[in-house]
Amino acid sequence: MARPTTETDLITATAQPRPYWSANKALYAAADTSALPVQGEIQIRPAPWTLEVYGTMDCNVACDHCNADERNHAYGQGSMPLEMMERLHVSIANMGVRGVQYCGGGEPLLWRGGQIADFIAALPRETTRAGMASNMTMGKVLARPEVLDKMVFVEVAVFAYDDATYEAVAKVKHGQSRMEKAVRAVLAARQEAGLATPAINAKVIINSTNYRWLRQIYAWAEATGFDSIHLRLADDYERRGGGFVLDEAQRTQFRADLEAFAAERGLTEWADKIGLILGDDNKGVTGTHSHCWTVATGVNCWVLANGEVYICGPQWGNEQYLIGDLNHGNLEDIWGGKQHQQVARRLIANMGLSRCYELGCRHIKQSIAVDQWTAGAAVVPPQAEFEQRHAWFL
Ligand code: SF4
Repeated sequence: MARPTTETDLITATAQPRPYWSANKALYAAADTSALPVQGEIQIRPAPWTLEVYGTMDCNVACDHCNADERNHAYGQGSMPLEMMERLHVSIANMGVRGVQYCGGGEPLLWRGGQIADFIAALPRETTRAGMASNMTMGKVLARPEVLDKMVFVEVAVFAYDDATYEAVAKVKHGQSRMEKAVRAVLAARQEAGLATPAINAKVIINSTNYRWLRQIYAWAEATGFDSIHLRLADDYERRGGGFVLDEAQRTQFRADLEAFAAERGLTEWADKIGLILGDDNKGVTGTHSHCWTVATGVNCWVLANGEVYICGPQWGNEQYLIGDLNHGNLEDIWGGKQHQQVARRLIANMGLSRCYELGCRHIKQSIAVDQWTAGAAVVPPQAEFEQRHAWFL
C-alpha cells in the first residue's frame, strides 16, 4: 500500500544518520585533501574541517537523560576564560576552520551570559560558519541578524510540551516557555532579515519519563515552527544507569505509539526509520576495522572549556589521547604537531582494543566510504546536495 505523502518533508529520523550523511560526505574532505596519505600514514590537514567547542561544562537544566552531567562535574563545571576564547577564535580565523560547533552539554549559551553570540557574529563569513546544540532557554541572544547570518543550524533539545512536563524531565521551572519564546524570536529575526539559515531543528529525546508524550511534543514543535523534528531515544552510552533508558515494556509501547502516529500523520521518514530510531538495527560495523581517515587526516577537533584539545569524539577526556592544551599554546601550534601525530597513530593502533567500530562511531562508516572511493568503487555524490547541508560541517 502506498504511504500517504508527508506534509512536512523536512522531518527526519536521526537515530542514525542516513548513509549519505554519515559516510559519503567524508568523500568531500578526502577529495579536498590534495594528496590523501596512503593507509597507515598520518597527514594532518592545515585546519580541522569541523571544530567543536565546549565553552562551559556547566548547564542550567538537569535532564534525567543527560550523559554529560557526571562528566561535567569531573571537569568542575568549568568555563573557558575569555582570553582563551578570544585566542581560539583568532586561530579559527587564521587557520580557516570551516565549521565551528558550539556544543551542548554544558550549555553553550550559559558561557558569560550568552556572550558566545558576539563571537559568532565576528566569525569570518567567507571561510567559517557556526552551528550550535543548545537547550535554548537563554536563546534570545541569538536573535540578531549578524549572529544568524553566520549560523548554519541550531539543534534544540526538546523533551516536553509545556512547563510542567519540562520540569518533570529537567527539574527547572518555566523552561519550556523560555525556550519557546527564544525559538520564536530566532525564527522571527531570521525571517525579518530575509535569511535562509540557520535551520532551527527540534532534537526530540525520548526517555522513560516522556515516552508517552510523542503526540503532544510533536504538536508543540510543529506549532512553534521548527524547520525539522528529529527523534531519538535516550541512550545510556556512558553506562550511568539511573533508569532513563526505556525498558522492554516501554519500548514496545513507544514503538506502537510511533507506528500509529507516523501512519496517521504520513510521517514517512519516521515510519521508514523505526528500526533506527528504536536502535534495533546494528549501529556500528560488525567486522574488525583498523583505520580511521578522520583521525589520520585531521577532520575533526574538540576543544574543552579547560583548554584541552582532542581529535576523536568518543575519546575526548581520555588523557592518553590529548593532543595539546590551549593554556600552553595556540591551536595553530598544537594542530599537526608532534603530539598530534603521535596521538593519531595511537588512536588508530588502538582501534581493535577500543572496538570503536562496534560502537557505531560515524567516522567508521566515513572511513569505509573513503576506502571505497580510493579503490574506485564509489563516486562523490552531487555537489549541490553537499553544499546545502554539509559544506561547513563534517
Ligand atoms: S572512535 Fe574510532 S572511528 Fe571514531 S573517530 Fe575515534 S578512532 Fe575514528
